[in-house]
Amino acid sequence: MGDIINGKAHAKNIHEEVKARLATIEGTPHLAVVLVGDNPASKVYIEMKQKACEEVGINFSLHTLPQEATQREVLTTIDRLNASSQVTGILVQQPLPPHIDKHNCVSKIHPSKDVDCLHPYNVGLLIAGKGNVLPGTPAGIINLLDRENISLEGKHVVIVGRSDIVGKPLAFMALERNATVTVCHSFTQNLAEICSTADILVVAIGKAGFITSKYVKEGAVVIDVGVNRLESGKVVGDVDFETVLDKVSYITPVPKGVGPMTVATLLENCLRAWELNHE
Ligand code: NAP
Repeated sequence: MGDIINGKAHAKNIHEEVKARLATIEGTPHLAVVLVGDNPASKVYIEMKQKACEEVGINFSLHTLPQEATQREVLTTIDRLNASSQVTGILVQQPLPPHIDKHNCVSKIHPSKDVDCLHPYNVGLLIAGKGNVLPGTPAGIINLLDRENISLEGKHVVIVGRSDIVGKPLAFMALERNATVTVCHSFTQNLAEICSTADILVVAIGKAGFITSKYVKEGAVVIDVGVNRLESGKVVGDVDFETVLDKVSYITPVPKGVGPMTVATLLENCLRAWELNHE
């Protein structure tokens, strides 16, 4: 049976580390979150971020606009937060309503306040291996592997899912760590065959229990990013946890795996953004 990686415990350690570093700076980072509309899942995610910020001593403010807010109104809100000397980090909660252009919004955030690492300037730095801030979920995954002493060097890392927030940035970060990377998506042929060659398999597709034993190589490390709520209310990942557990060397559970690390990385980014704003 593989080891179950306790993401929650690692994240708690990072919270403590951020708290200790905050005690050494003169000032307090301030995260401003922009929410457009009232998506219930977004509200839950924002509450988690607020709680984490408050726990470690980062100031938090929420800036809510109605679902029918215009692009101009969202951009004006971001501009106001860019101009504020109090606010050191800005995050636009996604998903945005369909009439709002998300790329336009994240491009409006000042790069030094872009705690989600979505501004094209920060994405460029990331690709160049020079990232100031790092995207929450991919950085959380790399951090988790580091803390478990699992090296990426020379490994075949297969990433299923190519989103801008997980798959694509993780591919560049894994390359920086000298992994050989394959990125798969919904057009990939022979997916099971490719996945079963992975030393480290990362799955971020949003399909409950999709990855079964045939996708997993004996002794592989499996990182499950998916968050899927079943009709019963139970939250599960993209990996059929029970059926692959015997085959893997390590696996992240859902919940308490990657999710808490994403929030922990956000705290690190809030601190880093504060430093960038004071350099
Ligand atoms: P996304 O934007 O929802 O896109 C899904 C990706 O999966 C796409 O690239 C899609 O391919 C691919 N895909 C879908 N079905 C597939 C299939 N049958 N075979 C191969 N590839 C397939 O991705 P996301 O935003 O990264 O979210 C993915 C999951 O991770 C969701 O459950 C989300 O809730 C979760 N998530 C969790 C965290 C966390 O902190 N725990 C953070 C972010 C996301 P195409 O590009 O071809 O459409």
